[in-house]
Amino acid sequence: MIVTLANAVKEEEIQAIESQLKGFGYTCKQIKTQKAQYLVAIGKQLFDIRRVGSLPGVQDVHRVSDAYKMVSRKWKATPSEILLDTGTRVQEGGFTIMAGPCSIENEEQTRDTASFLKQAGIGIMRGGAFKPRTSPYSFQGLGIEGLKMFFSVAREHGLAIISEVVAASHIESMYEYIDIFQVGTRNSQNFDLLHELGKIDKPVLLKRAMSGTLEELLQSAEYIFSKGNERIMLCERGIRTFEKSYRNTLDLNAIPVLKEKSHLPVIIDPSHGIGIRKFVEPMALAGIIAGADGMIVEIHKTPDQAYSDAAQTLGFTQAEALFDRARKVFSMRSTF
Ligand code: PEP
Ligand code: MN
Repeated sequence: MIVTLANAVKEEEIQAIESQLKGFGYTCKQIKTQKAQYLVAIGKQLFDIRRVGSLPGVQDVHRVSDAYKMVSRKWKATPSEILLDTGTRVQEGGFTIMAGPCSIENEEQTRDTASFLKQAGIGIMRGGAFKPRTSPYSFQGLGIEGLKMFFSVAREHGLAIISEVVAASHIESMYEYIDIFQVGTRNSQNFDLLHELGKIDKPVLLKRAMSGTLEELLQSAEYIFSKGNERIMLCERGIRTFEKSYRNTLDLNAIPVLKEKSHLPVIIDPSHGIGIRKFVEPMALAGIIAGADGMIVEIHKTPDQAYSDAAQTLGFTQAEALFDRARKVFSMRSTF
């Protein structure tokens, strides 16, 4: 059960609401986010919710039977929107494109990509500065100095950035130089990291674990929300199956199902989802038809030379064609 507290709720009123709920055998957890204050009450007994709803200090009460509560559409039917400092929005009913290299490699590459994106009308640039690589001998990223350079080049071009955070201890130093924290598939259930991302006010793009269920993804999102950060996007990036013909199995089913289960925006990552350059575009377009609110895609001026994920990275000409078709498919979807 979720109790949304009134803006001017008093401490004594919260105590009275909690003691009423405890009387029904419920345990309560107070949650304070950027937007509001809530009580999440967990218990089994059925009672007339007006007995809580009518108490002073209560704005509204909802029963949510899902294991995740605050990220559930059963609680919040209106979709959540994310507005970035640069003015770009991520929201249901829109289609936001994030593009850039897998890794930030050097200033020239960063500038080339930023100016390409700007002329292509894209508002968010991706790029990893801390790279979680399967092999310890692979390129590990430029670290915090790379992130600072990335952020300043992006801002010169009016772009927002998204970059991966791999450890809770990095959040503070990255905070000033980032617009969206990406949580990668390998950290999707790193609860310590999720917990700390819940304490900040910057948006988080949370990827699905490579063998994670949708319910696990939503519970990970709940970790972030329940610590106070409502600004979350979910990302389908492919799961690991028995099929070896492609890098991952992009689970397109996840898109409409996540949209139905949650009010959070859902982003498709066709690059990691299939891992094969020539098939990134059709899978991206399929993701749009399936209902994604945005996509994140890997691009590079000389894709074969990319330091990481070259095989799935698009060149600028291919990227331009994809953006153009993505816009067309999205506008067609809007007429359905
Ligand atoms: C990435 O975005 O480059 C990345 C490492 O993604 P994932 O966590 O989905 O593998
Ligand atoms: Mn990558």
